[in-house]
Amino acid sequence: MSEATKLYMEEAKRASYGHKLRQMQELALRDPENFWSDIARNLYWFKTWERVLEWNPPFARWFAGGLINASFNCLDVHVKTGNRNKVAIFWEGEPGDRRVLTYLDLWREVCKFSNVLKDLGVKKGDRVAIYMPMVPELPVAMLACARIGAIHSVVFSGFSSEALAVRIRDSGAKILITADGAYRRGRIVQLKKTADEALAKIPSIQNVVVLRRTGSDVEMKEGRDFWWDDLMRENSLNSQAVPLESEHPLYILYTSGTTGRPKGVVHDTGGYLVWLYVTMKWVFDIKPEDIYWCTADIGWVTGHSYVVYGPLLHGATSVMYEGAPDYPAPDRWWEIIERYSVSIFYTTPTAIRMHMRFGEDWARRHDLSSLRLLGTVGEPINPEAWRWYQKVIGGGRCPIVDTWWQTETGGIMISPAPGIELVPLKPGSATLPLPGVHAEVVDESGKPAKPYEKGYLVILGPWPGMLTTLWGDPESYKSIYWSKFGQNNLNFYFDPPAVYYTGDYAMKDDDGYIWLLGRADEVLKVAGHRIGTTEVESALVMHEAVAEAAVTGKPDPVRGETIVAFVTLKPGFNPSDSLRTELIRWVGKTVGPIASPSELYFVSKLPKTRSGKIMRRLLRAVVSNMPLGDMTTLEDETSIKEAMEAVDLLRKAMGMGELESQL
Ligand code: ATP
Ligand code: MG
Repeated sequence: MSEATKLYMEEAKRASYGHKLRQMQELALRDPENFWSDIARNLYWFKTWERVLEWNPPFARWFAGGLINASFNCLDVHVKTGNRNKVAIFWEGEPGDRRVLTYLDLWREVCKFSNVLKDLGVKKGDRVAIYMPMVPELPVAMLACARIGAIHSVVFSGFSSEALAVRIRDSGAKILITADGAYRRGRIVQLKKTADEALAKIPSIQNVVVLRRTGSDVEMKEGRDFWWDDLMRENSLNSQAVPLESEHPLYILYTSGTTGRPKGVVHDTGGYLVWLYVTMKWVFDIKPEDIYWCTADIGWVTGHSYVVYGPLLHGATSVMYEGAPDYPAPDRWWEIIERYSVSIFYTTPTAIRMHMRFGEDWARRHDLSSLRLLGTVGEPINPEAWRWYQKVIGGGRCPIVDTWWQTETGGIMISPAPGIELVPLKPGSATLPLPGVHAEVVDESGKPAKPYEKGYLVILGPWPGMLTTLWGDPESYKSIYWSKFGQNNLNFYFDPPAVYYTGDYAMKDDDGYIWLLGRADEVLKVAGHRIGTTEVESALVMHEAVAEAAVTGKPDPVRGETIVAFVTLKPGFNPSDSLRTELIRWVGKTVGPIASPSELYFVSKLPKTRSGKIMRRLLRAVVSNMPLGDMTTLEDETSIKEAMEAVDLLRKAMGMGELESQL
């Protein structure tokens, strides 16, 4: 037994809860073959696997020798049973239009669209780029690709033509599926026009399929572009799902680009589906009668895993909403929860903080009593937002599952698991790793850190659901994820063992709970102390005046680094020198004097990725006068301009020298 396993077992003996969870963890450690096989048998395999894992570090073939199809498991298995008339998707458009799709409806659309793809010459292994709004045809397109073994590459519809072009070029897609337009905050976004600009730079795309959504006037290039409905009209329902090797790539998806250039993460079919199947059960405790709503855009991994594949594998009923959370009013989400009696709700800390800023009256107008489970993902959730979410949205009665995972991990890895056993929750901690996930916090040398010692979060790999490579770049796959801690620091049951580097900074408490403290490359190093960005930010957000906060470091000849904070204020509070001083002192009091920001700026918005994550690397560049680097994933350029102006103004006033213009 490895050192890590021993520690884990000792912890398990001490704790008065989590016995079932730890028992399963133990089983996964002792007998992974049977553990994973038992789970995988819940899916339909055209041919059973020969080996659960073929491991050639860091390359894994999960369920090697097995044949499976994602579209078949998400649709055909339900259509062949009593579930064919069950609602798969309650869809609501931003303007208020609604559609209800049963499993049979969805299956019919997918079968037909898979024939459309075949007619356009799409074959197994070909890449299909998808650039669509949140309409049912987006999952239809994905499942149609999966049905015939084409690899989809979905690009978030909020991306610019340049960001789209980069992703299409990298994946080498030959077909693009898009729409004439999309609704966003009451306006029409000209998707086809943006796609055309991107295509001007990429000759590899042979055909474009265009869905009519907004009725916008668009240019259709003769011979290249076709309307979705024209192609569908001519096609039949006759489409058999193709049995695919378990390791066949299901999709390519680019990471958010929070810390650098987006990476083309590849997921397989068998391992990925097994992981989604079981995490839906463990974390969301999904039941046939649930109405489940994950607010993520399908353009991100959360949407792939927990809007499309996860719920459909279970034959669940989901809500899907097209537009902005605050359109036409800040209670749009709460209205939807009430209308459909949503029981499980999964969203991001950023969204929760936005709703906190709007105030709780918006939620109070609606009956949210159908909710039984709440979830968050994407960023650390500060305890303040956690409590608000639990009280105002969950009515004090719903557990919150704070789910830690990444595009690369495919599905949830560290989270409470009410589907197994609900352990006591601690606001701000993602709690314990799920069974089969061997997460450790390690120090610089790769040795497990002691309780409360901060370090790097690693996963002792492999696990089903993991990325299998980076598209066209296996060398980067090895060096980014599997090289930092080599193979020999932590013993593990997989032979040979390997250590997956998450890039996140974390800490375990003495119950073994994991606390995510921010990105490892954003850690602040002040006078020999290492401070996670999350620690300082959550302290700031605990202050009654602060809505959101982002902190970064500025090189300092004496202290190594000094902390610089950017904050947005809640309505009713105004920037002032006294508030600035108060906030700086507040951090000193809450986290410790070492963490007091040396500079603090008030801004109206923080720079975020289009998935809503704070881009601290840009703020770091601003405060230390460095080039900004890749900005294609930045949501709003004015946020960074504003940060620059704020820094400029204050530093001038304090005689600290001027920032060069960088934009
Ligand atoms: P890039 O890798 O390109 O910088 P990204 O890391 O933002 O982009 P994602 O894969 O979408 O892309 O995000 C995963 C990251 O989000 C995690 O590594 C972690 O930093 C953060 N994260 C996700 N869920 C949580 C959570 N529950 N608590 C804390 N952090 C989380
Ligand atoms: Mg990442």
